[in-house]
Order: sequence, then C-alpha cells, then structure tokens
Amino acid sequence: MSDEVEVPESHPRYESLLTRHRIEAGVDRGITSRQGLIAQGRGEAYDYLLGERTTDSADRAARAAAAHLLLADHAVISVNGNAAALVPGELVELADATGADLEVNLFNRTEERMRAIADYLREHGATDVRGLEADGRIPGLDHERATVDADGIGDADVVLVPLEDGDRAEALGEMGKTELVVDLNPLSRSAQVATVPIVDNIVRAIPNVTDHARDLAGAPDAQREAVDSFDADEALAAAERAIREGDLG
Ligand code: ATP
Ligand code: MG
Repeated sequence: MSDEVEVPESHPRYESLLTRHRIEAGVDRGITSRQGLIAQGRGEAYDYLLGERTTDSADRAARAAAAHLLLADHAVISVNGNAAALVPGELVELADATGADLEVNLFNRTEERMRAIADYLREHGATDVRGLEADGRIPGLDHERATVDADGIGDADVVLVPLEDGDRAEALGEMGKTELVVDLNPLSRSAQVATVPIVDNIVRAIPNVTDHARDLAGAPDAQREAVDSFDADEALAAAERAIREGDLG
C-alpha cells in the first residue's frame, strides 16, 4: 500500500509503528480526525500493558461477538475514522462473513469525512456503505453526535462499535441494542456498558471475530453456547487483572 511507510519487519515495535503510520495516513487522507491520533495513543498504552496480544478472555469475547453478529436479525458494524484507517479491508471481510451492514458513524461528523470513509471502504471491497442518509437519531444525544441511518444503526438489534465514545455507547445501550465494543481500556465507559467488551487492539480483534464467525457459521447451537457462556464482568475483570498484575497467563 502506498500509504505504508518503510519500517523494517525486524524492528521490535514493528506492528505498533505500522499501526501509528496508518493513523497518520488516515489523517492525511481526511479519514481520521486529529483527535484520532490521541485516541490511538491512549489505546497503545493499554496494549503495551496487555502484552500486545489477544488474551484468552478477549478471544472468548471475540467468539461471543461473532455469535451475536450471526444470530442477529439486523447487525450493523459502525465505522469511525480510526477503524477505517486501521482495518478497512478486515471490516469489509467481517461484514461479508456475518451478513452485517457497514455504517460510517462519526463523533465529529463532517460530510467530507463521511464521504472519504465511505469511499475508502468501497476501495477495499465494500458494496453497500450506510451512514450518509442521516435520517435517524439516537435519543439522548445532541444532534450531530446522534445522527444515524434509520434503516442502519437505527433499525439494528446488534451493533459492533469499535473505539466508541462512552456517551454514545451508553445511549445505544439504552435503545435496547446489543452492543459489541472493541476497546483496549477495560475501564472506559464504552467497554463497561457493552454486552460484549472485546478488550483487544482492533487490528487483532476484527480478523479474530471474522475467524470465529467462519467457524460458527451454520451452527446455531454453538452460536447460542458462545453467547450464553460469555460473562462481560468477568471479561473486564480479567483484562484489568492482566493490566494491573502483568498476569499474562
Ligand atoms: P471513555 O469511554 O471513558 O469516555 P474516551 O471515550 O474519552 O473514554 P477516547 O480516547 O475518546 O476515550 O476513545 C478511544 C478509546 O479507544 C480508548 O478507550 C482507547 O483505549 C481505545 N482505543 C484506541 N485505539 C485503539 C485500538 N487500536 N484498538 C482498540 N482500542 C483502541
Ligand atoms: Mg471510550
């Protein structure tokens, strides 16, 4: 990819540097907001403490999330500027694997960024990108931050919201939606209000959810089991333990 900066693969921080460069390139392309740079920095700190790996508990969360997406009547994957910059193709693959819709949904909404992200997803294989109709509302939030598509997130029973702001995560939960959150900070409100908090880097989490979805496809009993056996409080506690105690086992 022409956006990719040369980092030798032998560099001990290879993955982390590559991820940072993607966010930088996202800002340059008008996909990611400057606030997104700060959000990435916050995430990286937690990732470092987690050992930059998918914990067993985060893997179980990814499986539960995959099951929810497959069992949904109408699942929507919400895409913001950081998610688009980091995992555009992976989000398209996840949508394909689960039958979910992709909807661009921005905290700092501008028409230019909405369009730039939709175009970027299409460049990565998306055929149908929602979010541009903006004819629906999430109750309890001010106008701009509340905007969604009525037949997208507005109508969804299950929503995957990577790196979502706490207020909006809470408001979506109050609408009765099943919320699947990807957030490296187990103490963030987004993770705390999620039905399924996946405490993992989005770069690892999205392909992992896709793998689980492929594994669970056509197996409703296994999907039910993954949903029923998942405990959100336990997952958050496990992540916090891993961070505080360096309990990497
Ligand atoms: P709160 O949820 O407590 O209100 P916040 O919404 O103010 O916190 P932000 O910086 O706006 O926090 O949101 C970014 C969130 O996304 C942070 O919790 C951060 O840990 C997380 N994050 C950032 N980059 C990634 C990433 N690559 N993968 C997963 N999570 C990430
Ligand atoms: Mg947050």
